[in-house]
Amino acid sequence: MNNCPFCRIVGGEINATVLFEDDLVLAFLDIAPVNPGHTLLIPKEHHTSVTTVPADCLSRMISLAPKLAQHISRVVDGDGFNLHLANGACAGQTVPHCHLHIVPRLPTDGFNWGWRSLDELPAAERQSLADTIRKRLQESQV
Ligand code: AMP
Ligand code: ZN
Repeated sequence: MNNCPFCRIVGGEINATVLFEDDLVLAFLDIAPVNPGHTLLIPKEHHTSVTTVPADCLSRMISLAPKLAQHISRVVDGDGFNLHLANGACAGQTVPHCHLHIVPRLPTDGFNWGWRSLDELPAAERQSLADTIRKRLQESQV
């Protein structure tokens, strides 16, 4: 994927401020950070979607992320962190190479994720939705 910016970072064609790497993953500072220390953790192999990242790599990402986040937060005198992964354009993914955002947070940073809170679905719709999802999960032997 020569036109993928994150593959180009992995390949050394684009500079990045790398914080950590091993054989499976790379972590580097985001160029447009929410807060200082905002980091992207990526699989070295190109995958647009998190759903195709092999289990060993995904497990490395998920086990590493909280450790990186805790260290980064402490370095920037943070008080916590958000882990965020946008999968697909409708979810806000702008770079088509799977990446986990590690965003250190400060009590005073004024940043708001902008969550919305819809009303809970009526019981019948909720049950029907849950039944459909559970059936799908069973069929796919997740
Ligand atoms: P998302 O919107 O979740 O796909 O996030 C993409 C992120 O990649 C954004 O936060 C960008 O600031 C960041 N980004 C894009 N290009 C680069 C780059 N060359 N180096 C570091 N971060 C980048
Ligand atoms: Zn890529």
